[in-house]
Amino acid sequence: PATLGLLGGGQLGRYFVEAAQGMGYPVWVLDPDPASPAGRVAARHLCQAFDDPDALQALAGACAVITTEFENIPRPAVEWLDARACLRPGPRALSIAQDRLEEKAFLGEIGVAVAPWQAVLAGQTPEVRMDAGGPAFPAILKTARLGYDGKGQVRLAQAGELPAAHAELGLVDCVLEAQVELERELSVLVARTADGANEAFPVAENTHHEGILHLTRVPARVGDEPRERATAIARHIAEQLDYQGLLAVEFFLTVAGELLVNEIAPRPHNSGHYTQDACTVSQFEQQVRAVCGLGLAPALLTTPVAMVNLLGDLWPAAAEPDWQGVLAAGRARLHLYGKAEARSGRKMGHINVLGLPGEDDAGAAASTAEALWQGLAEAVDGGVA
Ligand code: ATP
Ligand code: MG
Ligand code: MG
Repeated sequence: PATLGLLGGGQLGRYFVEAAQGMGYPVWVLDPDPASPAGRVAARHLCQAFDDPDALQALAGACAVITTEFENIPRPAVEWLDARACLRPGPRALSIAQDRLEEKAFLGEIGVAVAPWQAVLAGQTPEVRMDAGGPAFPAILKTARLGYDGKGQVRLAQAGELPAAHAELGLVDCVLEAQVELERELSVLVARTADGANEAFPVAENTHHEGILHLTRVPARVGDEPRERATAIARHIAEQLDYQGLLAVEFFLTVAGELLVNEIAPRPHNSGHYTQDACTVSQFEQQVRAVCGLGLAPALLTTPVAMVNLLGDLWPAAAEPDWQGVLAAGRARLHLYGKAEARSGRKMGHINVLGLPGEDDAGAAASTAEALWQGLAEAVDGGVA
């Protein structure tokens, strides 16, 4: 088969490369980091900036289809590639997903509910609009661009804190949104091909620690109604973007029962790692299928599952965590990204804990995942003390 191109070289990209290679497609990866997880397993690693003209030329010349695992590709590079190669998803979806102001406006236009929000723009005196639709407090100020894992966000108890919060974020374009009371956080992955076929994965339930995903469990503990509505909204967004590839949609289910979209990601998603071990197809193989215009695979859950993230904080100073305890749990699948440097907050790997026959929810899997994580965390705390 033809060669595929990938923008971005993180762990999401590494799993895409492995899936594609397993299906017979060589992959070229563009990522400036020489140690990027995907670059190291790619047929060719273009170790250049995302807007390097020679690198873009090489990708466009060699690759039948180019996709992404990272949304913050500079817009001129995206447009250059789109004009000369088959870029999936295309510039509109990437542009919307990389800017919270565009994203909120788009979701509003297509009738998808989001938390009350307003723009706070660079070069303007920040003012809180208390009119209908404006944010209520407490609220969160988020940079429009480049935020991830809760970075680029400041929480505000009241309107008077806005100027200081805006200054703290560098006076760049921001979104001010109401902090909603969460019953659950959910996410849905949907794959869509150029001919309009789509396939959604089961709804995932997510727990965050300090703005970073900690645990995902599937099935989510929600009723049929919000479950079906979340899936329908994800399909609707993909449809309205004329999306080609794999799209992730993050949701808030509020205590008042509202289902709001938090944000979208034009790529595989951390909360979709459970699909590697507990679905009829992984999110990464489905991404290959979607961008190559192959038939989409049915995306069904084969067993209840819980995924727990392994951040760099779990690495003792100058040592590897003790993986034996994790591997001894037969229902746990350990996935490590091979990153050399274990920085605090950095995603280094994850564990998928599978349900056992007879379990019809993810309760036992989630307890085991938490216990394994706790064991690793205590080993670090113990080592330091
Ligand atoms: P990601 O790594 O998912 O891209 P991000 O940096 O873009 O994260 P958000 O998804 O906006 O950040 O927020 C991170 C987390 O903070 C959310 O998953 C949620 O737990 C909490 N959060 C964000 N916005 C709100 C809100 N309006 N109300 C309540 N909680 C919120
Ligand atoms: Mg985000
Ligand atoms: Mg998020």
